[in-house]
Amino acid sequence: MAKQKKIASISLDLDNQWSYMKIHGDEGWDKYPSYFSIFVPHVLDVLDELNLKITFFIVGKDTESGDNCRYLKMIADHGHEVGNHSYHHESWLQTYSYEKIDKEIQDAEEAIKMATGKRPTGFRGPGFSWSVDLLRVLEKRGYDFDASTLPTYLGPLARMYYFKKSDLSKEEKKARKELFGKFSEGFRKLKPYKWDLGNNKTITEIPVTTMPVFKLPFHLSYLIYIGNISKGLMKLYLNTAITLCKITNTPISFLLHPLDLIGGDQITKLAFFPGMNVVSSKKVEIFKEVITCINRHYQLVSMGNHFNYIATHSTLKEVKP
Ligand SMILES: [Zn+2]
Repeated sequence: MAKQKKIASISLDLDNQWSYMKIHGDEGWDKYPSYFSIFVPHVLDVLDELNLKITFFIVGKDTESGDNCRYLKMIADHGHEVGNHSYHHESWLQTYSYEKIDKEIQDAEEAIKMATGKRPTGFRGPGFSWSVDLLRVLEKRGYDFDASTLPTYLGPLARMYYFKKSDLSKEEKKARKELFGKFSEGFRKLKPYKWDLGNNKTITEIPVTTMPVFKLPFHLSYLIYIGNISKGLMKLYLNTAITLCKITNTPISFLLHPLDLIGGDQITKLAFFPGMNVVSSKKVEIFKEVITCINRHYQLVSMGNHFNYIATHSTLKEVKP
């Protein structure tokens, strides 16, 4: 019998047009412009072609428009899992009080359930923001897992790059001062583990996987960026990441963002964004190659199935936050 492949889960943070504009400091984001009518059918087609069922982390605010809800329902009806990506998508969630986080999570959860018919059981913070209070809220609300950590030393660098490319004011930058995390995030564990919250309370953490040892990110945004310089280099980088994951026995949680899969040719309103000069067909081509590479060594599942697998097949280390 062939040896069973290890698990790799795929998830997409369904950041909408307005949240890109908001984080970038562009005017008009507060009218909540949406590209779901273009993006959602596009991504569902690509995933269907690859026969993939993934997890979409949904922002509660997007359910306020009936048109958006139609597309969110479409995602669930295609058999994809829905996750909670907060209500307002504010990447300084870690500065909120317990009560404010609780409301943020609950509001998003109820809105997502209403729009899709499914209750989310996993959470990812916007901009990889998390706090101990957040973990406590998730545990209290009966969530299976948190997926908000990105163990990399590069967070501060990514933030600098983002600020340079944005029109944010000093105040706005201050509010975003922990966007993409601190340097110390790099010391966090790559393999899933349980946060020990005291009083026998725990919640499972499934980090976004970075390259073992080097802790370099290899989620799709990075691969598209490298692939644009050289496809050979991109494959080398990805294969190194996959090999290191295999050697170190690390399951993969692979992260996608909408703009990784669609170009400025389709989302003209964001055509000025970094990386949006690459057309959709090219991005989809790179995505398909990446998926094929990972699938050679790993079985591709949603995050919920990733959680179910590790909950039944392994004893997770407990870590105090
Ligand atoms: Zn997001």
